[in-house]
Amino acid sequence: MDDLLIQLFELTKEKKIAYFSMEIGVHNDIPTYSGGLGVLAGDTIRSGADLKLPMIAVTLLSKNGYFTQDINEAGRQTESPSKWDPVSYMQLLPHRITVEIGGRDVYVQTWQYNVQSLTGGCVPVFFLDTDIAENRTEDREITSRLYGGGQEYRLKQELVLGVGGVRLLHAMGFRIKKYHMNEGHASFLTLELLKRFKKPIEDVWDEKLVWDIEHVKNLCVFTTHTPIEAGHDKFPYELISKTMDGLFPLDILKDLAGKDYLNMTMLALNLSRYINGVAKKHGEVSQNMFPGYEIHAITNGVHSYTWTCESFKKIFDEYLPGWANEPELFVRVGRIPDQKLWAAHIEAKQNLYDHIKKLTGVYFSPEILTIGFARRATAYKRADLIFRDIERLLKIGEGKIQFVYAGKAHPKDEPGKKLIQNIFEYIKRLNGRIKIVYLKNYDMNTALKVVSGVDVWMNTPLRPLEASGTSGMKAAHNGVINFSVLDGWWIEGHIEGYTGWAIGPPPNELTPGTNADARDAEDLYNKLEKKIIPTYYNERSKWIRMMQNAIGKNAYYFNSHRMMRRYVTEAYIR
Ligand SMILES: *Cc1c(COP(=O)(O)O)cnc(C)c1O
Repeated sequence: MDDLLIQLFELTKEKKIAYFSMEIGVHNDIPTYSGGLGVLAGDTIRSGADLKLPMIAVTLLSKNGYFTQDINEAGRQTESPSKWDPVSYMQLLPHRITVEIGGRDVYVQTWQYNVQSLTGGCVPVFFLDTDIAENRTEDREITSRLYGGGQEYRLKQELVLGVGGVRLLHAMGFRIKKYHMNEGHASFLTLELLKRFKKPIEDVWDEKLVWDIEHVKNLCVFTTHTPIEAGHDKFPYELISKTMDGLFPLDILKDLAGKDYLNMTMLALNLSRYINGVAKKHGEVSQNMFPGYEIHAITNGVHSYTWTCESFKKIFDEYLPGWANEPELFVRVGRIPDQKLWAAHIEAKQNLYDHIKKLTGVYFSPEILTIGFARRATAYKRADLIFRDIERLLKIGEGKIQFVYAGKAHPKDEPGKKLIQNIFEYIKRLNGRIKIVYLKNYDMNTALKVVSGVDVWMNTPLRPLEASGTSGMKAAHNGVINFSVLDGWWIEGHIEGYTGWAIGPPPNELTPGTNADARDAEDLYNKLEKKIIPTYYNERSKWIRMMQNAIGKNAYYFNSHRMMRRYVTEAYIR
């Protein structure tokens, strides 16, 4: 323990960027992430460590994880807790603080997990935990399930994350340069900061002026991630009074976070100097949602080393040494001979198909054009768009294409669960004439296998709801070509027939009122039939050129090293 405290003391010497996120994917077997947001948080931290940024991160322990997904014969998803044991990965620190929740003090302790880079950089991640003997049983559960329970449970979690997080960092002796809120879940941290930086009362004639809003704003950075209204947490003030009575004056809170209900996004917007969306388009969409605030955009990226499969790591090491900590080197991807690139790709495909055979018994041939679709199962992503016209799909693709699906639906997202059922239904109806597998329990390991082991990465979100999307960037790192609706990052990464293909019209040619499903499906079938299938089977060298472009243009740019350099220069150093 002494060593740990000495280490911690060393850590507190330099001012830090404190990155707060409800979910973080630091490791495949630490199931404290649900999807893109958490994996992005992990990639942010991994790049922070590689670049030796003075950074720390705060999240919840989520001891029962998000959930483990099972799917029965009928395609019905069932959930069970994904229990994991922090002792095997992290160290419990001796520090404890309390947060007043529901009229009593809830004790919060923290576990430290170090994200260690080969460069020597390190970002410690603090996992907050209320499972302490002194707490009542229900309070011990606060940090147990990621996105579980109802509104009150969520509110308590967000109090622990925001208020508890700041108190713990303070108790540990950290001095913080910037607080970065990854999504609005953490925005209660601003209230704790307001309390800490109150102006001395005697200077002030109006009581409201004790709150040093400008000072707190200068300390805060806010990244918004969703253009969906329901994606922004809102709490009725009745619940607020009951749960956080006395924590912060209600009249001031209403000024900062909304009159009718407490809006976590509003709170973050009002108390952050720098605010950004996660792709250029998403920046614009957010600007329209939140007029009166200046919204910037920093397009997401993925951690190159984490999201490159073994066979590609090998050829990158040989031809582009140093790529992992300097993804700009992908600019010279043309140095890799075509046969080597193709052989690495076939190896990645074989690796996935061995895995598929083991899990499902279905044999996939590496010769066949394979299309991947794996992400959260939720309605706007339209996982079943390609099955809109089964007869047409058969005519175009029988014997020529096969599909790999994966993805979890949030336990309360009934339409998302229905989507999974629909896909199982289509698998039955196609009866092997077009092979489709649905891999259960999508996680980071499965994601790497799938994004590297297919030929084409398909994405069909309903516009403009895909804020960024990151799985297509992972695919690009493995020479897998994107075939996607022009939304999120793909608007910036797409050059038709060069880096990949679009589904549907570009954003400036969208005509409102048209049936997006019919229009997008039509284009999807056309491109598949006339461009993608013929190129794959008849123009292999053109295909390999496109794989190179995916790496040399998309992976070159859409990586988290570039993203973090932009956060540093545009958001942190201000
Ligand atoms: C990358 C990733 C996602 C995000 O995928 P999108 O297509 O961007 O939504 C979700 N889940 C896991 C496990 C991932 O690795």
